[in-house]
Amino acid sequence: MLGDTPSIVDTGHVSQQVQLEALIQHHLQNESLRQIINTHLHSDHCGGNAHLQNVHSSATISIPSGQFAAVQDWSFLKETHQSIGQNCPAFNADEALKPNTEKTINGRVWQIHAAPGHDMDALVLFAPKEKILISGDAFWENGFGVVFPELNGEVGFQYIDDTLNMIEELQARWVVPGHGQLFTQVQASLDKAKSKLEYFQSHPINHASYASNVLIKFKLMHEREMQREDLLAWLSSAPTLLNIRERFFQDLSLHAWLDQILNKLTTKKSIAIQGSTLINL
Ligand SMILES: [Zn+2]
Repeated sequence: MLGDTPSIVDTGHVSQQVQLEALIQHHLQNESLRQIINTHLHSDHCGGNAHLQNVHSSATISIPSGQFAAVQDWSFLKETHQSIGQNCPAFNADEALKPNTEKTINGRVWQIHAAPGHDMDALVLFAPKEKILISGDAFWENGFGVVFPELNGEVGFQYIDDTLNMIEELQARWVVPGHGQLFTQVQASLDKAKSKLEYFQSHPINHASYASNVLIKFKLMHEREMQREDLLAWLSSAPTLLNIRERFFQDLSLHAWLDQILNKLTTKKSIAIQGSTLINL
């Protein structure tokens, strides 16, 4: 049922690796996973790689060519993950996926397209015959992932624009995003993503605010519960987060900035605060 080469695109966060393995096993039954493909190497997309590689020793790992060298020497990626306060177990990559090439998986041809912006080395996979797009964090039903380069004062929004235009030209009928469910209202979602991009371009501080909320929520989601002082200590060791405050919220102390983020997440009922304990909802 899963073809000669049972494959998976992206493997989630390390905190879910056991659940993912059980899910894969359920679908594989007596077969073995043969291939792991990553759209990009954020910790919530390749966090299960190492574990799956261990369990399914015949599985190869294919990653964006732009990060192939970094995976050979994990220190760079370790630093990247740490800069946003995340961790991800090291794995070995077997194949570098290059943009503007094709990969045939179980008889289906997938085009590989560069999709920079959220991550500068990110790729999307597109099956031209079936018009299926696997979009990672480059394109979601309600937008796209945090534009990380912009947080460090680098160009990012322009790349998102290029990537959304490239996706529009593909005329996909089905999109399997990196977060959320499969969707088919592709043009409506592209329009939504473009208007979100325009808004962020004219209000970069709102993008910075969105990014900090996402990164703090992400941390709490995986820790489930944390003491406020531990969160503050973690925040102080994540350079990208510290950068956001210095570049966009320099009027606020680190404490006041964190309070502002926690208040927003509480208002949205995304977290709850009980005394000094922060609880993910
Ligand atoms: Zn990502």
